[in-house]
Amino acid sequence: MTAPTEPLDVAVLGATGTVGQRFLALLEGHPWFRVRALVASPRSAGKRYADAVDWRLEGDVPDHAADLVVRSAEDAPDRDVTLALSGLDSSVAGTTETRWAEAGLFVVTNASAHRMDPDVPLVVPEVNADHMELARSQRFERGGAIVANPNCSTIGLVLALAPLHRAFGIEAVEVTTLQAASGAGYPGVASLDLLDNVVPFIRGEEDKLAEEPAKILGRLEGGAIEPAALRVSAQCFRVPVVDGHTASVSVKLATSATADDVLEAWRGHVPPRQGLPGETLRPLRYTAREDRPQPRLDRDAEAGMGVTLGRLRECPVLDWRFVALAHNTVRGAAGGALLVAEQAVLNGLCGRHAGRS
Ligand code: NAP
Repeated sequence: MTAPTEPLDVAVLGATGTVGQRFLALLEGHPWFRVRALVASPRSAGKRYADAVDWRLEGDVPDHAADLVVRSAEDAPDRDVTLALSGLDSSVAGTTETRWAEAGLFVVTNASAHRMDPDVPLVVPEVNADHMELARSQRFERGGAIVANPNCSTIGLVLALAPLHRAFGIEAVEVTTLQAASGAGYPGVASLDLLDNVVPFIRGEEDKLAEEPAKILGRLEGGAIEPAALRVSAQCFRVPVVDGHTASVSVKLATSATADDVLEAWRGHVPPRQGLPGETLRPLRYTAREDRPQPRLDRDAEAGMGVTLGRLRECPVLDWRFVALAHNTVRGAAGGALLVAEQAVLNGLCGRHAGRS
């Protein structure tokens, strides 16, 4: 397991979108990855990136991307790059990513299309980096592979659940999410639908939250994932917050635990330092302040890669309840996917030294 000696060439798919823009902001000056190709819809194809994109993040379009000419997702995959980071719209992500993997590329996707494929690792590096090995069993020609970043709400939830699952076992979870507007991409939900309002429906989201945690918290055995035996009941709401998904969570544990036990399990969740450029010292932090976490105040913890927990209380129905908050386009999308890609490189799955069968 070694860091690359020189940067790997990378394509960003869906480069003009909400997630794509985050990718490009985070990839500026990245020590392991160098952006060589940008891909979006035929509407953007043929234009300089700076002309094609409606840049919605602070500052200007990053210099490293501004003059690259955007290619169409309908074009043949770019075989000069090693890694494709995908923030493609869900309508085209699945088929496009398959084509890129078939062309021999290592694809890390933010879309849901491949997440539950039995041979696709669904990875939160601090939780289940070992699942990455599943990618070796994929049978794309030329050694390509697909690895998935989980749903943006799943990531914060699973980072909070993993230490509890390891210490006490989790039987059941009830989660209600309050999800930011940027989670719907740009322009997303019309302002007149969202201001002064809460929308109690996000298509497909409750199913993703119900099924993804069991796969991530499951065990890799005999070349397959044995899902964890936990049930998740999810309700998802769109709220007028720009960035940051909040989750109100209740859990039923398999063995009893005190509040101190729960806090100790979270505190003890300090993943080993591996030297990944995007790894955080403290992916989980607990705040004892009674009115936190809040999206505006806590979403940028650890440069957007930290999950903030708070309000641990006994639950009169299940065992314990708490609040978890994560930045949806950083930890929940581009930052999380970048960490997955870095882990894949370190594990020898992606890059010149990759040894997939
Ligand atoms: P978005 O802002 O709408 O961006 C979508 C991207 O896909 C744009 O680059 C767009 O290019 C491209 N695209 C759209 N239609 C296309 C087509 N027919 N052919 C090729 N490219 C096409 O969406 P987003 O929020 O960034 O989400 C991107 C993906 O990440 C989705 O699968 C989403 O579910 C997932 N995700 C999003 C978040 C989040 O917080 N936003 C979090 C986790 C996962 P043009 O600009 O050329 O149209």
